[in-house]
Parts: sequence; structure tokens; C-alpha cells
Amino acid sequence: MSRTPTDDELLARADAIAGRAYAPYSGFNVGCALLLRDGSVVCGVNVENAAYPLGVCAERTAFSRAIVEGARPGDFAVAAITASPCGGCRQWLIEMGVERVVFRHGGGVRTMTPAELLPETFEL
Ligand SMILES: [Zn+2]
Repeated sequence: MSRTPTDDELLARADAIAGRAYAPYSGFNVGCALLLRDGSVVCGVNVENAAYPLGVCAERTAFSRAIVEGARPGDFAVAAITASPCGGCRQWLIEMGVERVVFRHGGGVRTMTPAELLPETFEL
């Protein structure tokens, strides 16, 4: 029986998976490891495209993989990311109901809630 990974372990998973990023244009590899409430971990990387706006962030590939596997908003406990999430991904973090977001920023590691990352958020 495996125990729940710590935030540091999740960030290490994000670091490891970042090497699989497809980022030939920016050269900026990003990894994301999502901890679901059932204890499973789903990872993602950024996937760029020659038509730049079509690129997809690591957070969004991870969430998309989890959704394909049957996860739904509210199933996510932690998102560990190797970089600060962009504005669009902050909206995803809100929508998916993540409890806390752990990410590298300014040479350190920050832990924030999605609401702290995106106050006064858009809601349906
Ligand atoms: Zn993003």
C-alpha cells in the first residue's frame, strides 16, 4: 500500500516529467504533477506548436489526462508545478477545485490556494 506523496515528492515528480516536454520554440520545459484525492498522481508537460497560441501548458495536459481517466472537478488535492502557473491555468486550477498549488517561483517554492492565485475569479 502506497502512502500519499508529500508536496516535495510531487514537485520532484513534476521536475522529472518536465524532461518529456515538447518545447522546441521556448526551450522552457514545464512539468506538473496532480495529486488526486484517491491518492493517484497524474502528470503533464507543456506541448508547444509552431502556431504559438496552440501550445498547451503542463497543467492543462495533466488535467486533461486525468479527466480522460474519469476524474472530475473536486477530485484534485494538490497541483505541483515546476513554474508559476500562467493566468489561463489559474482559471483551470479554480475550475478543477484544487486545494493547494505548489510551484517554483523566484528561486523558492510557493504554496498558495487557487483563490489566492486568482482572486475575484470568473464564475458561472
Ligand atoms: Zn498555463
